[in-house]
Amino acid sequence: MDFEYYEILQVSKTASKAEIKKAYRKLAMKYHPDKNPGDKEAEEMFKKINEAYEVLSDDKKRALYDKYGKEGLDTGSSRGGFDFGFEDIFEEFFGFSKRKKRKTTPYDLDILVKVELEFKEAVFGTKKEIEFEYYSICPECNATGAKKHHQCPTCHGEGSIFVRQGFMSIGQTCPECKGKGIIIDQKCDKCNAKGFIVNKQTITVDIPAGIDTGMRMRVSGKGNEDFDKTRGDLYLQIYVKEDPIFKRRDNDVIVEVPIFFTSAILGDTIKIPTLEGQKEITIKPHTEDGESFIFHNEGIQDVNSHYKGDLIVILRIVYPKKLTKEQQDLLEKLHESFGKEVHHHKSIFEEAIEKVKGWFK
Ligand SMILES: [Zn+2]
Ligand SMILES: [Zn+2]
Repeated sequence: MDFEYYEILQVSKTASKAEIKKAYRKLAMKYHPDKNPGDKEAEEMFKKINEAYEVLSDDKKRALYDKYGKEGLDTGSSRGGFDFGFEDIFEEFFGFSKRKKRKTTPYDLDILVKVELEFKEAVFGTKKEIEFEYYSICPECNATGAKKHHQCPTCHGEGSIFVRQGFMSIGQTCPECKGKGIIIDQKCDKCNAKGFIVNKQTITVDIPAGIDTGMRMRVSGKGNEDFDKTRGDLYLQIYVKEDPIFKRRDNDVIVEVPIFFTSAILGDTIKIPTLEGQKEITIKPHTEDGESFIFHNEGIQDVNSHYKGDLIVILRIVYPKKLTKEQQDLLEKLHESFGKEVHHHKSIFEEAIEKVKGWFK
């Protein structure tokens, strides 16, 4: 028994309907004659893909095929052999059909606009004025781009032609009019033959607290305009500027606090910035570099829930860049006062050096 259909669609014999549909869509797009004009091999492949999909997408046919192979289909099909529902498939996957031609706008109805926010605006939310452009159908030429035009004689205004090949027909974009269905005699001045015009609009949007770079907000009904004057959606692609002090990690906020080396050794009380203002923290004597404090629920409000992140304070020990003569003397005295302790690494390393030497003897 051969299971060619599964191989054609590159799916396993146990593939689900959804997997088969996905595989078909991918392959059909790839080998569609519109994308491969004049390519005989692609055309053959396209036929095979459709044949395989026709069978594997139908539970009854698939069961017969699994049991008896192709022969099972010829005798077993209630309709007697193949009766391909290509128009349905085309409508579903490619949005066009032989029977009716839907008028489509020369642009997507949804718009994507980049919105840049300050760190503070993203953390606390804000009202933001957003200026953007959207398209609408040219009222002078009704999207044709023509002041004067006549119907395309090749496709009779359909925009596509169907070429019959054996048992099936394949839809192709009309080569004469490039799918427009008309031939332009004189260009439209208002839209410069584009078929649409550009409008400007400013809206005020409530940006919720906690929004972050990479998130998208949908503003419904503010996209490009369709023939019936309804509009698609506007999507705001959020980009948040970095703050010099507060670093964001999901909903946590990290602040690196520089503390002077003497404070780290002796201990200190210092003021640090927080999202709400400031707070005092006590540094214990003998604090090491990288030690951190975590303040729960003092981070950023989650954009979708009541959850709040943490404020994480990380201590960074800093040393003086310059010393006065007096400071130098004091430090040297201090250094000497530690006596043996200053050299306490030495004994460890001497042992190690001797050990390494031993490796090469
Ligand atoms: Zn126009
Ligand atoms: Zn045409």
